[in-house]
Amino acid sequence: MCDACQAKGVNWSLSNGPGRSHLERAKLYSAFEGREVNIKLCYLCSINLFVAGERKFLTENKKLNVELKQQYAGSDFDF
Ligand SMILES: [Zn+2]
Repeated sequence: MCDACQAKGVNWSLSNGPGRSHLERAKLYSAFEGREVNIKLCYLCSINLFVAGERKFLTENKKLNVELKQQYAGSDFDF
């Protein structure tokens, strides 16, 4: 399941069409206070991320942003 499509409630394999329904691993580096965040993206979303950049991508995927923030930004982190 594509993390961004899942957050949007989109059927990712349908919107990508047959033959493109594989997932790519993507990393976000700067959006979460320097923490490396791993997400799974479909073909369309990984292109979106590549073209738009992290911040714009997360602005366009608000729900995903909120979910990732809850996962990564809230907890204590000691070096
Ligand atoms: Zn997607």
